[in-house]
Amino acid sequence: MDISIINLKLNGKKMTEENRQLLQGEIFQLMKLKGMERGADVEFLVNYIKRKEGKNGYKEFEKVLSNFGFDMFDVEKTSATEWIPEFIPHVLLVGAFRFFDWTEKDVFEMGRDALSLSKTLKIFIKWFSSAKITITKMAKDWNKYYTYGKASIRNFDKDKKRALFFIEDFKTHPLTCVYLSGIAFGVLELATGSKNVKVVEEKCMFKGDNHHEFKLSW
Ligand SMILES: [Zn+2]
Repeated sequence: MDISIINLKLNGKKMTEENRQLLQGEIFQLMKLKGMERGADVEFLVNYIKRKEGKNGYKEFEKVLSNFGFDMFDVEKTSATEWIPEFIPHVLLVGAFRFFDWTEKDVFEMGRDALSLSKTLKIFIKWFSSAKITITKMAKDWNKYYTYGKASIRNFDKDKKRALFFIEDFKTHPLTCVYLSGIAFGVLELATGSKNVKVVEEKCMFKGDNHHEFKLSW
């Protein structure tokens, strides 16, 4: 990746007024979230944004968040296993999307890279020789990373190479569905070694369903 080109792109770019207003409202709403999650995800998000947009880009981003009343805490002082308020990773995710004018594909790719790039996120995952055990265990362990929501794997079909991934009681921001799709994609790639991984969200709480349901195949 050519960092200088990315920086040039950013230096010539200002957040659109539309995105600025959207983000201001979103941060206000996100800061009301009451759940907690582990520090590892925030650490990954900060490092990923710095890598993708350059250190100067990240600094500008921090300034804008600060103008909206969100002061970035010191990631280096946070341990991966520490519980931190869930609004922090949410503001980072939604903020980067608006500020850098990312597409949903960018958010998906970030999720996809999370486990392979982050050493500390890996602390939480136990890899088993069977893809079924790995994937099922991850869903069962959901509440080791989040104090909110509930996850499960259903209809695992080893021969047809497919399963359903359910998330319930989890409604924070629609971009989390894109990010989680990316994470599920990355986990499936690593757990199955398949080049034909697909993740399709077929039901979504933001589209009127009672839960989120991702169809996984590999
Ligand atoms: Zn959803």
